[in-house]
Amino acid sequence: MTVLDVPARREQSAVAPPEGLPRLLAAGDPTLATHLARFGPLPAVRDAEAIIGELERSGLAGRGGAAFPTWRKIASAAESGRAGVVVANGSEGEPLSAKDATLLHHAPHLVIDGLLLVARALGASEMQLVTTAAQLPPVQRAISERRDAGGIRLRQTEDRFVSGEASAVVNAIERGRAIPRDHVVRLTVSGIGRRPTLVLNVETLAHLALILRFGASWFRSAGSDDDPGTRLLTVTGPDGSVVIEAAGGTTLRTTLRAAGVDPTTVRALLVGGYHGAWVASEALDAPLSAAGLAPFGAGPGAGILMVLSRGQCGLTRTAEIARYLAGQSAGQCGPCANGLPEISDVMARVARRDRDASLPRQLRELAGLVTGRGACHHPDGTARMVMSALDAFDHDVRAHALGLCQEVAA
Ligand code: SF4
Repeated sequence: MTVLDVPARREQSAVAPPEGLPRLLAAGDPTLATHLARFGPLPAVRDAEAIIGELERSGLAGRGGAAFPTWRKIASAAESGRAGVVVANGSEGEPLSAKDATLLHHAPHLVIDGLLLVARALGASEMQLVTTAAQLPPVQRAISERRDAGGIRLRQTEDRFVSGEASAVVNAIERGRAIPRDHVVRLTVSGIGRRPTLVLNVETLAHLALILRFGASWFRSAGSDDDPGTRLLTVTGPDGSVVIEAAGGTTLRTTLRAAGVDPTTVRALLVGGYHGAWVASEALDAPLSAAGLAPFGAGPGAGILMVLSRGQCGLTRTAEIARYLAGQSAGQCGPCANGLPEISDVMARVARRDRDASLPRQLRELAGLVTGRGACHHPDGTARMVMSALDAFDHDVRAHALGLCQEVAA
């Protein structure tokens, strides 16, 4: 294998930015030669202030799920004034998500570029890239293709639901166990080895690498005002999962069609993943953006859509997910150790049509008890998903309490 020096750009690149879609996946293959031919060399090193300004103009929000403005996160790390750690988070513990894995397989150099640019701008003393076992080979190959990436430490993390949470990523690096921890003090103030630690999702870093090449205006030329740029989406339909890149604000209906799913077969969608919310098929014309989904109590999360087809029971599917989530906690906080198994049990009774009209009330009370009480948001996300099922499948909840099921043949 040839190891290359990646030239830093000194003047405006002659390489034209991708027009239309895809952007992140525009190179077509993961080699450095193709990456350089498609996107041009690494942009010249810029200080933190310049990067923060460009990112603020771009409107890039994190693609790991929380959708926090990226410029703010970097500004928070820059405020410490100390050399810290920058972590590219490709943990992707959510079973419905495959977009980070797809990105690391098809465009690892964009992620590496983003990590290098942020680390250099912040004067970081350490760079880490964390991902699961299956993604290590393509990332290792990409790192070994270029001399400037030699300082990146590649870490394998556990393949479990909570392993992608930022404090779990820090724990995985420090202690080898990807479980969340209480972080009363922000990680950007005190993280790995008590140093300022900035954890950014790998897709966020890939967008950043393109924004610093082609500018904030180019980034905003796709998507909508309130959801600029593109995002990777994992859509799970009756025939399996596909990852697509869509412009921000694309409607749910258009997204489904792009993923090969016939919207007329859809009964409901779980939007945002297992910590997301169910929305009924009446919402298919809503844009897949924070503002577009807010009226339905949902958000894009890490860009996940799961189809519930006509003829399937949303309450049964919710009970299965609740059982899975109850088993994924670290069991170190009361809401997870006690509350989530109870929520799972009561949800299972709703799903199997126990004739007990008090079950929805019990679920709402349990959800109130666990929300906001854990060291991380696992109880909150689980409770939110279950509550959304009670709303989206309200008719079924009432039918199940009578021992009936409206939608599914008994
Ligand atoms: S809330 Fe649950 S998942 Fe989060 S740290 Fe506590 S036990 Fe672990």
